[in-house]
Amino acid sequence: MTTNQSKTIAEKLDKEDPLYHFRKRFYIDSESTIYLDGNSLGRLPLKTKALISDVVENQWGRELIESWNRHWYQKAIQLGDKIAPIIGATTGEVIVTDSTSLNLYKLAHAALKYQKGKTTIVSDVLNFPTDLYILQGLIREFGAKYTLELAGSNDNISIETDEIKSKITENTALVVLSLVAFKSAFMYQLDEITEHAHKMGALVLLDLSHAAGAVEIKLNQNNVDLAVGCTYKYLNGGPGSPAFLFVRHDLQEKLHSPIQGWFGDAQPFEFDLNYRPAPGIRKFLTGTPPVLNLMAIEPGLDIINEAGIKNIHKKSIQLSDFFLSLVESQLSQLGFELGSPTNPGKRGSHIALKHPEAYRICQALIQPKSSSIKVIPDFREPDNIRFGFTPLYTTFTEVWQTVQRMQEIVENSEFEEYSAKRSDVT
Ligand SMILES: *Cc1c(COP(=O)(O)O)cnc(C)c1O
Repeated sequence: MTTNQSKTIAEKLDKEDPLYHFRKRFYIDSESTIYLDGNSLGRLPLKTKALISDVVENQWGRELIESWNRHWYQKAIQLGDKIAPIIGATTGEVIVTDSTSLNLYKLAHAALKYQKGKTTIVSDVLNFPTDLYILQGLIREFGAKYTLELAGSNDNISIETDEIKSKITENTALVVLSLVAFKSAFMYQLDEITEHAHKMGALVLLDLSHAAGAVEIKLNQNNVDLAVGCTYKYLNGGPGSPAFLFVRHDLQEKLHSPIQGWFGDAQPFEFDLNYRPAPGIRKFLTGTPPVLNLMAIEPGLDIINEAGIKNIHKKSIQLSDFFLSLVESQLSQLGFELGSPTNPGKRGSHIALKHPEAYRICQALIQPKSSSIKVIPDFREPDNIRFGFTPLYTTFTEVWQTVQRMQEIVENSEFEEYSAKRSDVT
């Protein structure tokens, strides 16, 4: 296929795309900037921009403290109920609070206390470091009997189902996995793992940070016990927006938050001297939320619910598959190697390409000297360029343009003009 032919296909796919019009709901500063990092920080919904000025000007500025009752106090639970359909959960099972790291701590701690006598935690070597650090910290806190068992990976891309299952034994208290791996985008098949874990009496805690808002997740259908995840990635909640947590209905009364803050009390404004856990999911709140960030989350969720997560996932697969077909025809001779699963059923919404010059190629994409097109992916050590496809605003034409730029950069050795010295944030 010539590049003109593939360009025509890209334009046709955009024209036929039922989600194409959602791009207009986002703030897009320049049509010549191709943003492929929505898996790290989602774009700004236009409604959020207007909402935040209203929150600042009217709610904080004019209504002041009255805004707590009028707008703010119930928001954590209202947003949770809007996240529920996106992750296959039910009303009252999800709440927005704290950060993903902190929520993981709270839920893993609660699960370990509940699973008295069982002393192993299972995770895998592809997991996001904060998850492993939190678990290592919990083990320090719970004592030397506890251990962390990590399932290995043969190719640094995937974890075999048999490998993870073999780590889960009758001594396993808790299985903590990222549904979608942050580097390779490998995605677990949930049904087999939860079934095996439950047979062994283990609880399953998922980190949905790289999955929520991009792929269809069926927490209830797959009997998942606990989950956490970011709202600033595919949910487009804004930098540093608070995270969500999910606790299956029937576990809510059995688990206890290790951080008994007043927001998790049954009646915070009675100021009782003794803590009484709130009923349901609310007991997992801690203290006063960052209200500006919290309020900024809603418009992004509304867009996802309007578009439908099933449709979003479908387009995610189309975008990734189109990208892979172009990579194969145009980039495979140029030293690029796929760092993600080829099977779309085992992949989230980003693709990693490996190249010995990955960092400098990434710099050339982001800061072009001889092209009017700027492409923003990101880099993950040691040699991965990650391309995040956000179905609500990524177009097929952008995917096509990205591959053209990569071909130019390598064929013309453009990357040689860039330094390999890493910035603070890559
Ligand atoms: C992005 C990400 C996090 C980030 O956690 P914070 O507490 O928000 O910094 C955690 N886990 C996974 C899997 C992630 O992708």
